[in-house]
Order: sequence, then C-alpha cells, then structure tokens
Amino acid sequence: MTDLRRAPAIPEQWDGETDVLVVGCGFAGGAAAITAHDQGAKTLILEKMPDPGGISVCSAGSVRVAQDANEAFAYLQATCAGTTPDETLRPLAEGMTEISEFVESLATAVGATTQLREAPGTYPFPGQATFGYFTVEDVPEFDPANGYPQVRGMPGGGRLFNVVDRNLRMRSIEVRTNSPVTRLIANSDGVVEGVIAECDGKTQSIRARRGVILACGGFEANPDMQKQFWQGKPVVSTAFAGNTGDGIRMAQDLGADIWHMWHYHGTYGFRIDGYPFGIRTKRVPDWRPNEGQTRDVKMPWILLDCDGRRFMNEYEPYMQDTGHRPFERFRPETQDYPRIPAWLLVDEEGRKQYAIGQPLYNQRDVSLEWSADNLREAENGIFKTANSVSELAAGLNVSEDRLRASLETWNDFCRDGLDDDHRRPPISMMPIATPPFYYSEIWPIVSNTQGGPVHDSRQRILDVYGQAIPRLYAAGELGSVFGHLYMGGSNLAECFIGGRNAALEAAKQTLL
Ligand SMILES: Cc1cc2nc3c(=O)[nH]c(=O)nc-3n(C[C@H](O)[C@H](O)[C@H](O)COP(=O)(O)OP(=O)(O)OC[C@H]3O[C@@H](n4cnc5c(N)ncnc54)[C@H](O)[C@@H]3O)c2cc1C
Repeated sequence: MTDLRRAPAIPEQWDGETDVLVVGCGFAGGAAAITAHDQGAKTLILEKMPDPGGISVCSAGSVRVAQDANEAFAYLQATCAGTTPDETLRPLAEGMTEISEFVESLATAVGATTQLREAPGTYPFPGQATFGYFTVEDVPEFDPANGYPQVRGMPGGGRLFNVVDRNLRMRSIEVRTNSPVTRLIANSDGVVEGVIAECDGKTQSIRARRGVILACGGFEANPDMQKQFWQGKPVVSTAFAGNTGDGIRMAQDLGADIWHMWHYHGTYGFRIDGYPFGIRTKRVPDWRPNEGQTRDVKMPWILLDCDGRRFMNEYEPYMQDTGHRPFERFRPETQDYPRIPAWLLVDEEGRKQYAIGQPLYNQRDVSLEWSADNLREAENGIFKTANSVSELAAGLNVSEDRLRASLETWNDFCRDGLDDDHRRPPISMMPIATPPFYYSEIWPIVSNTQGGPVHDSRQRILDVYGQAIPRLYAAGELGSVFGHLYMGGSNLAECFIGGRNAALEAAKQTLL
C-alpha cells in the first residue's frame, strides 16, 4: 500500500509512463482521452472500478448546447450568481455553441444517430431561449437496457457512453480498470509529473510527461465528506459507489482551492435495508416558472414532515437540482432534522399512476426492479398501508387532527387548482382521499456533486492563491462551475467541453 503519511517523492524508476494521464473513465475522462490522443499524445486512462462508465453511464445523456455564446454566457452568469468568475464561464458558454460538432463526430464514427432540439433554460434569466439539448438516439447493435450488464441507467446516458466507449476502443486508448489513483506526484517546483495508482492491487508509479487530468468525479459516495460540507444529513447516494472525492483530496494535497462543495444534484427518494443505493422518485419533466407546467403529468404524492405537515412544493421546476434543498432544515429546539426522513404519501388512485421509484445503478452484483403499479413495494414493505386516516396517523406517529388538517388543506387546493402554501403546479396535483393510503420514509438523494477543485478558463487547477498547479487539470463534475442553481444538461456539457479543453492544454505541454 502507498505510504499516506508523506507526499510521494519522484521515484528513481517509474513503473510506467504516458504523455497524458487521465484519471477516471466517465464522459469527462473519455472526452479528455480521445482529444489528447487525437492531438498525438500517448494517453492512458486509469479507472478505479472494475468497469468504466462512472455515474455518466446512468445519466439521461442530455448535453446542453447553445446557439449564441453571449446569450449563453448571460444565462450562466445569472445561474452561477457570482460564484464563478466570468473568465471561467466564457469558455463553457462558447463551448456550448460548438460541442455538438465534437460529440456528433464521435457518434458518426460508430454509425449512431443523434438529435439536436431546442430546450430553453429553466429559469427566466437573460439568454434563456438560446439553449438546446444534444442527445444520441440510436447506436447500432447497442441496447441500453442490457448493453452493460452492471448498469441500470437512463437510456440516453447508456447510448452516449457506448459512443464514447467505442471511440476509445477504435483508437486503442488503454483504459486500465481496477486501478484507483491514490496520490499525485509533483517535483520540488510543484510541477505534477505523475501519479501513484493501485493497478489490480499492485502499487505503480506512472509518469505523465505532459500532464494529469483529474476526471474522477465528485463525492456522492463519500458520507464523511458530505457530513463536513452539507447541512442536511444523511443524504443517500443514488447509483454509483466509485466517486468518493479522491480527486478533491489529491488536488488539495498539492494546495488546490476548492469551491461549490455545498452544491449537489439530487432530489428525494427511498432507502431499502440491505440495498446499497437510494432510489429516487420517478423523474418528472422539468417546467419553467415563466411558463408554468405545460405537460399534463400528475404527481400522485405529497410529502409530510415528522409532525405531519406539508413543507415543500413536491414538484419544483427542476427537481434534480433543488428537490432535496427543503429537507435541510435543522430544528435547534428539538435538535433534529424534522424532514430527514420525511414521509411520502399516496392514496389508492395515486398508487396506480406509475412506478414511483426508479432504481439506477452502475455496480456489479446489484439488481432491483420496481413494479409499475407499486403493488409489489406495498407487499414487500417499502410502502406501508393504512386503511383509514386514523390508522395512517398512527403509522406516521403524528397527531390525527394535524394529519386531517394537512389532508383537508391539500384536497381543497386540488379542488381549487391552487397550492396556496407552496405553489405546486396545478396540473400535477392529485387529491389524497381514497384509501388505502400508502406511505414510506423519504430521504434527500444525491445523484452527483458539483464541488471540487477550482479551475480556470483553461481547466488548470488553481491553488489557494489563484496560481495554476503546473500540469494538473480538472474536468467534469470534479469542480463544476455551478455554485447557485444548476442548469440541466450542463454537467455533460462540462464533461465534453472541459474534458476537451483540459486535453488540448495538456497535450501542448512540452515533454518532461
Ligand atoms: C440519473 C442521472 C441523470 C443525469 N442526467 C444528466 C443529463 O442528462 N445531463 C447532464 O448534464 N448531467 C446529468 N447528470 C449528471 C452527470 O451524469 C454527471 O455530472 C457526469 O456524468 C459526471 O461525469 P464525470 O465524467 O465527471 O464523472 P463520472 O462519470 O462519475 O466518472 C468518474 C470516474 O472516475 C472514477 N474514479 C473515481 N475515483 C478514482 C480514482 N481515485 N482513480 C481512478 N478513477 C477514479 C470513477 O470510478 C468513475 O468511473 C445525471 C446524473 C444522474 C445520476
């Protein structure tokens, strides 16, 4: 094992070498490696887990694109609310107008079909209308439902990852799995020269003669870091165990500054004893506050806190970003988090709407199905059942009068088409009146994190004094630019744009 008590010295003899070393094989690592290789650099990816794909392969695979860079920049400025310097946002805005060409070229190379469609930003900020999504619609001989046996993800992410994966193979870029990088190696001038990794259990020092790109994700699977940086706890991780903040720690070891550590992507969901991940509630379409909910999608549940009160709009405009935030309240009077866990409640009509839980994972030996009508989950105890409001109050351990008041208020809102308490969109509202009632504990969920090392406009990781750490780059969700409101599709935009820019930068360094 690596000696973790002191910074590793430059070894007398390296165990291996490459030009550009990429840590992690999700979209950011894949995009970086393909670009570095295409620039003529010898490129190696070290991947911690037995399979590549990271959280990327589970994603919806929507890449945020834009028509006009100035408009995109204006929107990004508003959505980041001063947490990221303009000069760092500019390349992302510009990249959004060009990146579809790069991803399209990868798709074309494997005969995949793609789609580019308009998709304005969620919030009514300047530039809202300039945006769209780029997606891969079909990949020959690839079925996202079983193309990767260890993955149960959203089809778009599987297809896009397959495109990246095939492009890596076409170029014979080595992806060394079961190879967690544990330390960065820098010389006495602070120039990063390589890494230490555990390749199939064997400690190896690998030299990177042009640079190291950290594309090793965030800390969604590191409960200790979450305890330090997040107010509400515990937060349950959705799908992937490999992202434990290793890149953040390694960059900090060399003096990196960090940002946006509080900001994570996620909504709320279920926890099952013995199952390693949280299960998020079914993804509902996003809506824009300046348009209201335009698609006729019902959300059959409400959420109650531990006292039996509704506490949030269960269907916020972009659930995957802000859906967990109302859970964070800490109550000093009683020293608890009254909404962790909260209760999810549906009635018999709501139960029949659609599968309320949506299991996702990228992990071997894990498997979970959720029934379309939620009956199996009622039978196996994920949902408990109550045949009357009195029984429900007893099951939730709340005052029956308060529960009746909460239900009455909610059902009146449904009748009037107005949620006067939390502004839930009227189209989504369904009364909770027909027994039996089904209820389950519900927890804040993290899908992926935004925080990590600060980088500049060239993806160079900056130290606490704002100086670039020589030959060390960040890409993807490791240190995302988003530190206020996340913009859907932008993590993948950051993976492809940041991965590419980091690789262009690393590949042009002189050989050590
Ligand atoms: C359900 C879901 C849907 C989503 N949909 C979208 C979407 O449509 N659009 C969008 O923009 N975003 C979406 N996101 C977010 C997006 O998927 C992620 O932000 C993005 O995929 C992160 O990519 P990445 O390459 O940075 O990290 P990852 O894909 O997680 O890759 C990081 C890799 O690094 C490896 N690694 C970690 N530590 C080490 C180490 N020490 N050594 C070597 N390797 C290491 C990991 O094992 C992993 O394979 C979604 C997220 C989820 C969960």
